[in-house]
Amino acid sequence: MNKQIVIIGGGASALMLASLLPKKSATVIEKNAAPGAKIVVSGGGKCNITNAVMSPDFFLADTSFVTPALEAFNEKDLLRWLKRRGLEPVLKKGSQYFCKESSRELLSLLQKESRKQTFFYSETVLSVNKREGHFYIKTDKRMLTADAVMVASGGLSFPRLGAGGIGYEIAGHFGHNIVKTAPGLVGFTVQKEQFFFKELSGASTEVVITVNGQKCKGSLLFAHKGISGPAVLDASLYWEKGKMEIDFLPGFSWESIRKSPKQLSSLLPMPKRVTKAFLLQLKLHDKTGNRITDRELLILKGLNHYSFAPAGTFGYSKAEVTKGGVDTTEVDSRTMMSKKCEGLFFTGEVLDVTGRLGGYNFQWAFSSAASCARFFTGRQR
Ligand SMILES: Cc1cc2nc3c(=O)[nH]c(=O)nc-3n(C[C@H](O)[C@H](O)[C@H](O)COP(=O)(O)OP(=O)(O)OC[C@H]3O[C@@H](n4cnc5c(N)ncnc54)[C@H](O)[C@@H]3O)c2cc1C
Repeated sequence: MNKQIVIIGGGASALMLASLLPKKSATVIEKNAAPGAKIVVSGGGKCNITNAVMSPDFFLADTSFVTPALEAFNEKDLLRWLKRRGLEPVLKKGSQYFCKESSRELLSLLQKESRKQTFFYSETVLSVNKREGHFYIKTDKRMLTADAVMVASGGLSFPRLGAGGIGYEIAGHFGHNIVKTAPGLVGFTVQKEQFFFKELSGASTEVVITVNGQKCKGSLLFAHKGISGPAVLDASLYWEKGKMEIDFLPGFSWESIRKSPKQLSSLLPMPKRVTKAFLLQLKLHDKTGNRITDRELLILKGLNHYSFAPAGTFGYSKAEVTKGGVDTTEVDSRTMMSKKCEGLFFTGEVLDVTGRLGGYNFQWAFSSAASCARFFTGRQR
C-alpha cells in the first residue's frame, strides 16, 4: 500500500508508528525541537518501558478495547523487538523494565528506527480537515495533504514538554465524543485538617490506599504541597471527588504492642517524625506500648483506616498522564481507526486509556501504535 500518512506528534507512540510503517510513507510533525521529550524524563531518567506483569486490569479503560492491542504486541513482543535492535531493558522493583543507564537508550533506538520517515520539528499542527477523501493538515508553517492521519499527540499533562489538546480538537471536529479528562498519576493537595502532612515533607512510609473499591499499595511520600509517591499516584487514577482511606500500618500486628517497653514512636513502623505528628493529631502521648489503655489502642487502630478527602490534585503540570480522552467505543480496537472517519487513527495517551504506574503507559503507546501500523503493513509482530 502506498499511502501518504501524516503522524501528529513525535512522542513515544508516534516514534513506534514511524518505525513500523513502510519506508518514506509517513511525515511526522512535532511541536518541540526534538522528539520524545517525555521518554527522556520518564522513570526518573531511566524510562520504565514496560512491565513483566501485563493484563488489561492494569488499565483504566474498556477491557474489550485494550485487550486486542495488548495481546497482538505485548510486553514480550516489545522486549524482543528492542533486544533485536540492541536494547535490553533491566528488571527493577520486581516486575518493571527500565533502561539500563538512561532513557536516551530507548529514544536513540526509536530515532534510528524511524529515520526512514520525514520529520518536521518545531512545527505545530493547528487543524485537520477532510475533503473528497483527502486529509488537509494545517500547521503553523504549511498545509500538508495525506491519505491517512494518525493522531499521536498525547494528553494534557506536562504542558512544558509540549502537551496540548489538539488531539481532542481533531477528534471533536470529526464527531468523536471526548471522555472527560483529568490529571492522572498525580499527587494530592490537602485540606486544613491535613495541613500537618506538609510539615512532614520528605518523609515516606508504606501504605495501602483504598479508593473507589481499588487498593493501591506502595510508598506514600509527604510533599511540600500534600502527598505523592507511587501508591498515591496510582490512587489518583480512581479518585474523582470525596474521601479515600489510607492504611498507614498495613499488616501491623497490634497484639505484641501491649507488651513492649518501647515508646510508640519506636514501635510503629513509620518514620519517627511521622508517628509523632500523628500522635499529636490524635492527642495521644508517645508512651511505652505496655502503658497504653484500651481506649488509646482503639484510637491508634484508626491509623489502619485513616479517612480523608483531598482538596484536589497537583494538576496537569505535575501529572504523569491524562485520564479520559477519545472515547474508545468510537475507535476500532484492532486497527485504532476512527469508526466515524475512514483513514483517521488515534494511538497512545490521546485515547481514553490510562495505565497504572509501572510502565503500562509506554506499553499502551507502543501496543496501540503496533496495531495501527499493522493495518498498513499487514505484518504480524
Ligand atoms: C514525568 C513523566 C514521567 C513518566 N514516566 C513514565 C514511565 O516511566 N513509564 C510509563 O509507562 N509512562 C510514563 N509516563 C507517561 C508516558 O510518558 C506517556 O503516557 C507516553 O509518553 C504517551 O505517549 P504518546 O506518544 O501518546 O504521547 P506523548 O509522548 O506525550 O507524545 C505526544 C507528542 O505530541 C506533541 N504534540 C502535542 N501537540 C502537538 C501539536 N499541536 N502539533 C505537533 N505536535 C504536538 C508533543 O510535543 C509530544 O511530543 C511519564 C510521564 C511523565 C510526564
